[in-house]
Amino acid sequence: MVHTIVGANWGDEGKGKVTDLLAEKSDVVVRFQGGANAGHTIINEYGKFSLHLLPSGVFHQNVYNVIGPGVALNIEALLSELDSLTSRGVPMPKLLISDRAQVMMPYHVDFDKFEEERLGKNSFGSTKSGIAPFYSDKYAKVGLQVCQLYDHDILRKRLEIALVKKNCLLENLYHKPAVDVDALVAYLEGLAEKIKPMVCDTTLFLHKANKEGKTILLEGQLGTLRDPDHGIYPYVTSSSPLAGFGCVGAGVTPRDMTDIYCVTKAYSSCVGAGPFVTRLEGAEGDELRRRGGDAGEYGATTGRARDVGWFDAVATRYGVMVQGGTEVVMTNLDVLGYLDEIPVCVAYEVDGKQITDFPSTPTLMRCKPVYEMLPGWKTDIRGIKNYNDLPENCRKYVETIEKLIEAPIHMVSNGPRRDEIIYR
Ligand code: GDP
Repeated sequence: MVHTIVGANWGDEGKGKVTDLLAEKSDVVVRFQGGANAGHTIINEYGKFSLHLLPSGVFHQNVYNVIGPGVALNIEALLSELDSLTSRGVPMPKLLISDRAQVMMPYHVDFDKFEEERLGKNSFGSTKSGIAPFYSDKYAKVGLQVCQLYDHDILRKRLEIALVKKNCLLENLYHKPAVDVDALVAYLEGLAEKIKPMVCDTTLFLHKANKEGKTILLEGQLGTLRDPDHGIYPYVTSSSPLAGFGCVGAGVTPRDMTDIYCVTKAYSSCVGAGPFVTRLEGAEGDELRRRGGDAGEYGATTGRARDVGWFDAVATRYGVMVQGGTEVVMTNLDVLGYLDEIPVCVAYEVDGKQITDFPSTPTLMRCKPVYEMLPGWKTDIRGIKNYNDLPENCRKYVETIEKLIEAPIHMVSNGPRRDEIIYR
């Protein structure tokens, strides 16, 4: 049985908290795409953690955590993340790394940085963790799989081939020093030794686990609107954050997938470049940003201030539809308790018309939000455990959005901690 947790919007919806919560009832948690470019914030009995590469099941000792073949594996970042957990009292988690996952090279990270510098104001808001150069190489077939780290000749040969082009670009386009192949081989072989006990055929492992009736949880990173095909191209990431891609990136089959949990915030937040129709500028935005999340809306990986805005039902309905969400989890509902009235974007206005279907990027850039005002509840709802104990206007807010996005909201999160969740 495969459950999937994905983001309905631009990322940072609170998936980490939901995964940490559902991991308790799972046997395996799998990361299937992306790399150390996004972060999940998790607050539990060990403290507050920002996970970038590790699956969110690492706090549960009985859970296997899998890095699937679709992930961009930065080995050094992974080891330092593991270290930061164990040094704070978290027992060493059970971690398996796919032998088919590909390795993030130091030059991928450098190229990402150099390219953003070169593009200047035309950049795409990269987190500069090497993601775009990594996936470009993977699909251009000049990447390196983890299994290839353990054959010296293959490793050296692959790097020699890749470095001809890399060094040409480094020296001539970016005016930086070339990469030395021997130094890189030695560095990678050192890292490979450290992860060796965790490397295996995770696809086989997952198929066996599934056959034995185990519960497998796939954990997506970012959200629908960052998908290279269905998102706001070119302001997207380089791997698919869709549940549909979960099968490929993790190594399970579509027929094993059952529940798809789509996570959305009770308002909107977006880090990175690109059109964001409900973006709030000025004091209103500053206030929502300050009150949002567990300590304001700042990126878990970059520390960048996130743009914030009112709930966008047009983008979210689309986001849930493309993910195939069987249910929706609404997080950060407690954040809105200070407002007299809460605007919800129910349509976009563009070229003199109102539309309710999410358009492609050039049209989206011209869209203006059409708001409907909902009454606020003006109370702190943290600590409430039962849905019916929420103020009437708060329930009305949830139920209005549920109708607008055409998917059932079964869980409402009213605080950043693991236990702050209301089931409906
Ligand atoms: P993810 O990448 O989807 O896991 O999201 P992030 O962890 O980057 O961002 C979500 C932010 O919201 C984090 O700061 C969480 O601690 C916080 N958070 C999650 N759920 C809630 C909630 O219900 N209320 C509040 N106030 N904060 C929440």
